Amino acid sequence: MHSVKAETKKLLAELPSEVRLVAVSKYYPKEYIEEAYSVGQRVFGESNVQELRLKQSALPDDIEWHFIGHLQTNKVKYIAPFISLIHSVDSERLVAEIDRQAKRFGRVVDILLELHIAQEDTKTGLTLDECNALLESDIKNRYPNVRVRGIMMMASNVDDERQIEQEFHKASEYFDFVKSRFFSNDDYFTERSWGMSDDYELAIRQRSTMIRVGTKLFGTREA
Ligand SMILES: *Cc1c(COP(=O)(O)O)cnc(C)c1O
Repeated sequence: MHSVKAETKKLLAELPSEVRLVAVSKYYPKEYIEEAYSVGQRVFGESNVQELRLKQSALPDDIEWHFIGHLQTNKVKYIAPFISLIHSVDSERLVAEIDRQAKRFGRVVDILLELHIAQEDTKTGLTLDECNALLESDIKNRYPNVRVRGIMMMASNVDDERQIEQEFHKASEYFDFVKSRFFSNDDYFTERSWGMSDDYELAIRQRSTMIRVGTKLFGTREA
């Protein structure tokens, strides 16, 4: 039988100290989160605003909530008071709204810029050119209540491990470029969010600092 406690413990023990585990609890009931919590996991990722709000209000305050899904601008206000990190930022409009809501709540909200590197055209995210343009437009200084902590991406959903690793590698090289060009004096620009249940080992080889793992910890999702 699948044990959330055992799987979480095992993965936490095997991770290098510089890699953080984001336990992706979307669609799982809060009891699953409590099990992972009981063995020390504190960072959880959700992709639906409504579901996140319900879980956040029902679960312990020392949980660090990350938003990992597509975020609509009109929903930012609901998570702005408590969210620790928004991984999936892919437009200036969204940056502007996060800044506006963060200011209302007297916060600076951490975000990652989501890149589109995968081959599939269904995936969201900024192309490298779009991401460059956004950074060149000086979002760093124009939106003082948003702090860009790094970048996020999803690899193509394919079996070819070489392709997946190449995509992580591309993201890793791009991170270095962005760091040196825009954030060389900013100690907070450190995060590389890539790797999921099926590819987190490849992701760690390519310098991931945050893996987002769901099914491996919690079992198969019932839709
Ligand atoms: C669902 C999801 C994950 C986790 O996927 P698993 O295959 O369950 O590990 C990671 N990242 C994002 C953006 C997701 O939507």
